Amino acid sequence: MSNLRIPGPTPCPPEVLEAMSWQMINHRGPQFARYLSQITADLKTIFRTNNDVLILSGSGTGGLEAAVVNTLSPGDKVLSVSIGVFGDRFASIAKTYGAEVIPLDFEWGCAAEPQPIKDALKANADIKAVMVTHNETSTGVTNDLESISKIVKEAGKLLLVDAISSMGSIDLPVDDWGCDVTVTGSQKGWMVPPGLAMISVSPAAWNAYKEASMPRFYWDFGKAKKSAEKGQTPWTPTMSVFFGLSVALKMMLEEGMTAIIERHRNLAELTRQTAKSLGLKLFADEKFASNTVTAIRATDGLDSKMLTKIMREDYDIVLGGGQQTLDGKIFRVGHLGWFDEKDIRAVFSALKETLPRAGYKGA
Ligand SMILES: *Cc1c(COP(=O)(O)O)cnc(C)c1O
Repeated sequence: MSNLRIPGPTPCPPEVLEAMSWQMINHRGPQFARYLSQITADLKTIFRTNNDVLILSGSGTGGLEAAVVNTLSPGDKVLSVSIGVFGDRFASIAKTYGAEVIPLDFEWGCAAEPQPIKDALKANADIKAVMVTHNETSTGVTNDLESISKIVKEAGKLLLVDAISSMGSIDLPVDDWGCDVTVTGSQKGWMVPPGLAMISVSPAAWNAYKEASMPRFYWDFGKAKKSAEKGQTPWTPTMSVFFGLSVALKMMLEEGMTAIIERHRNLAELTRQTAKSLGLKLFADEKFASNTVTAIRATDGLDSKMLTKIMREDYDIVLGGGQQTLDGKIFRVGHLGWFDEKDIRAVFSALKETLPRAGYKGA
């Protein structure tokens, strides 16, 4: 088995893979209703929310699109707080559906600063919603969502959160932080294959839904909620991923969310410290470094593409590259979901041998 160290898809435990092979059942029958109800209850525990949690078949990006089209109307002003590729993608979705997007971009590698958000909300009183990425997977930065949420809530705006690569791995108390729509995806910290977007929807988001006039069909929150009340999904669900998720959630709740969050924190710290001990430079501002993915700069002659190639071919360790303008400038180590210390140690024992072969002249 490869040591798959990318920030999603992540490796799945054998118990989850076994569940993925279960025979199909009637998605309109009582057995599926029991799965749906148990999974929804477990997700609410992990999201720390009493809001509705909807489970839509699709990838995380589908969940982001759902967040937009269910709360906004064409012409609505939204503040897009972006610190990287995925923040930009969230903004693009809103733009595509006709929202008036006010971009508030921060330098890649840095976290969003609260004050400019406050200023932007003051300068544009008619903003309807703020879109923000909790954990920016492209740069390995986790935003201070608690501080950001305070500002957004004080201003009385909707808060739409991309928590795709943080929820279930990094603490995110949805209700305490007033997140109106919070999106995550099954292939990140959940130890499950791709195919499900899990989304919390607050009462304020439901109010917005009533007025929102962006076109929607497949992603309609109202249809999902109405079906869920009957123990169903509006469309045929990615059944096998539901099976896998039901087992993964049981495993997560057995380990306990406090322990899971701590494991991610400790092993992210191990990743950062070991990288630095090899003279490598972290891409992220360390105060905001992510506990699910570490981005490392290609400095001191390091050819990051050669590095990822050697790691893959000679060690069966799969690292992430840089996206868009970061292509060739960084490489990324994913540390989320089903993994432990030996997976990280294996990365660095291979890296030690690979770095000089890939041109690295650092310490
Ligand atoms: C992975 C990811 C996405 C995209 O999710 P897909 O499942 O690939 O559509 C969006 N935002 C963040 C922060 C991610 O990590």
